[in-house]
Amino acid sequence: MSDQRVYNFSAGPSMLPLSALERAASEITNYRGSGMSVMEMSHRSKVFLQIFQEAQDKLRRLLKVPDEYQILFLQTGATGQFSAIPLNLIGKTGKADYAVTGNFSNLAYKEAQKYGQINLAVSSADRDHSYIPRQEQIQLDPQASYFYYCANNTVYGTEWDYVPETGDVPLVCDMSSDILSMPVDVSKYGIIYAGAQKNMAPAGLTVVIIKKELAGHELPYTPVMMSYQAMIDKDSMYNTPPCWCIYMLGLTLDWVNENGGLEGMEKLKWQRANMLYDTLDNTRLFQCHAEKGSRSGMNVTFRTATPELDAKFVAEAAQAGFVNLKGHRKVGGMRASIYNAMPVEGVEKLCDFIRAFDQAN
Ligand SMILES: *Cc1c(COP(=O)(O)O)cnc(C)c1O
Repeated sequence: MSDQRVYNFSAGPSMLPLSALERAASEITNYRGSGMSVMEMSHRSKVFLQIFQEAQDKLRRLLKVPDEYQILFLQTGATGQFSAIPLNLIGKTGKADYAVTGNFSNLAYKEAQKYGQINLAVSSADRDHSYIPRQEQIQLDPQASYFYYCANNTVYGTEWDYVPETGDVPLVCDMSSDILSMPVDVSKYGIIYAGAQKNMAPAGLTVVIIKKELAGHELPYTPVMMSYQAMIDKDSMYNTPPCWCIYMLGLTLDWVNENGGLEGMEKLKWQRANMLYDTLDNTRLFQCHAEKGSRSGMNVTFRTATPELDAKFVAEAAQAGFVNLKGHRKVGGMRASIYNAMPVEGVEKLCDFIRAFDQAN
């Protein structure tokens, strides 16, 4: 089975560690003697509660999440948080600061405008989101209830190389596409959240890590499913949680631990990304979208001089076993998403393919 697998450069859902998939396959009809699949278990059963608790504990240990933070396993995707964040947090002053550095932070910024006065603290739209603004460019409102940014811009291929300084204003960060790719100082944040389908698990799970004191101040019409306090009170089990995804998260976290933890992930991340950027920078045909100094270690965006040649590249790459390299329609060109589970060997082979294509065209 495994030798027929392709190198999948999809932006998400994306590759999962082979060992996690194989473990799940071996347990799919009978989970460790329970006589049933994890998909068939009551979420209140002892056996599932243990799966749930272990996944939560492993994540807490890996990210060194302090005690005053709760880890929530929610649904409605990362996009659900675009609404949940203002609903829960903006009541403090009615205002919030947003940094718009790409597609998803722009969507979050637009959604938040329904709920309060939103200050565009900084934007990289002037150069087609090809860079990350520096701290000096950020216009902070000291009255903001929170400051919002997206750590890695999945569509444009840029990644913040610093944590913005916001004084006493809580930081809220969308880490959907770079969570678990490096150690993070959770204590700097009010909320970290991520859709699971890039670096953690199948689609359907959203992980929210929240400083507990920020919950409990939601706007009165906040849907109960979006209330952080309701979810904290019930340990994410107000209703049925995404059981299968939580189980898969646990298996992915085992793989992270077996591969050097977050320090190991960070080394592999830049090993893959630097190899790919170096290769692209040394071709005649290819240009990277992201400016040097702002380049993402997870999503590498690049193009040739024409859409026709881009299409040829994507088609020939797919033939050679490198799939899902077509760029997002907003940027065009190509995008290689090289999340944690992408083997270094997959990027080495893609680099060989890029060099050969560059010579042949
Ligand atoms: C994929 C992605 C989203 C959207 O995730 P959904 O789970 O589909 O809602 C949001 N933010 C970032 C940074 C992403 O990469």
